[in-house]
Amino acid sequence: MKKLFSIFGNPVSHSRSPLMHNSVFKHLGFNACYTRTQLTDGDKLKETFFTLGLSGANVTVPHKEAAFHACDEVRGFAKKVGVVNTLINEDGKLIGYNTDADGFVYAINEFKNIKNILILGAGGTAKALATRFKQDNLNVSVLNRSKTRLSYFEELECSCFTWEDFKIKDYDLIVNTTSAGLKDEELPAPQELVQEILNATEYVADAIYGKLTPFLKLAKEKNITYKDGADMLLGQGVLANELFVNHSLKKEDIKKEMQKSFSI
Ligand code: NDP
Repeated sequence: MKKLFSIFGNPVSHSRSPLMHNSVFKHLGFNACYTRTQLTDGDKLKETFFTLGLSGANVTVPHKEAAFHACDEVRGFAKKVGVVNTLINEDGKLIGYNTDADGFVYAINEFKNIKNILILGAGGTAKALATRFKQDNLNVSVLNRSKTRLSYFEELECSCFTWEDFKIKDYDLIVNTTSAGLKDEELPAPQELVQEILNATEYVADAIYGKLTPFLKLAKEKNITYKDGADMLLGQGVLANELFVNHSLKKEDIKKEMQKSFSI
């Protein structure tokens, strides 16, 4: 029987996940189809998942934390961060995973000697990355627009700041995990502050993909080596697809087919 997968998000029309996963299913002969579902109310995630008869799903902004709470069981790294981006229907139970952090580590493996990292934003992606970086004993600072979401990072022993009380250091890498620039032309922090931090870093990465965000435009103007979120997307997608096909396909083959979809 054909299996159905989907991505949940709001907005979701920009997502490349359907192309990526369908490319793997089609070319590697896995009988499945991947669609997209716009979801406004995160509390309806589980109900919608089972009503649609899904075998699995990905979850994007702003529902990754809601996805964590919706699961019957959460496994691996997702359990540690409280953030889920991949869902599997295992005999009628909703199982949650997180493949974002490993996807990101894969994406930046050409950036060398990373020790001091500044994360912009304090949402689901920031949590996953900060937890993963701390696991590797890196120094992590977090800068967010508002204070409420910083408590998780304080417990993780990151240096935490809002725009008002920010104290700058030297960084090897700055990662934008805010959604500023996703569907607008906003910077992740006030312009003056962004200019200042860009002058204090070696590398820059943005989780947003498919466009040069205002943040990356500024980095480019300053000749800073940068990456957008495409490789991170590929990394998390390969790991999610392995779960969707229950490891019945080779990782290298999944990666090859998924990568091809980036040129569509
Ligand atoms: P969340 O909604 O969990 O968090 C969003 C964060 O962005 C919050 O800290 C919020 O601050 C901040 N923010 C939102 N708007 C602005 C703004 N205008 N200015 C400054 N800060 C802002 O989102 P996620 O962590 O799930 O996703 C974040 C981004 O990462 C999205 O753009 C998403 O598309 C991208 N992403 C890309 C992936 C990839 O594979 N390339 C994978 C996962 C995510 P506050 O707390 O003050 O509200």
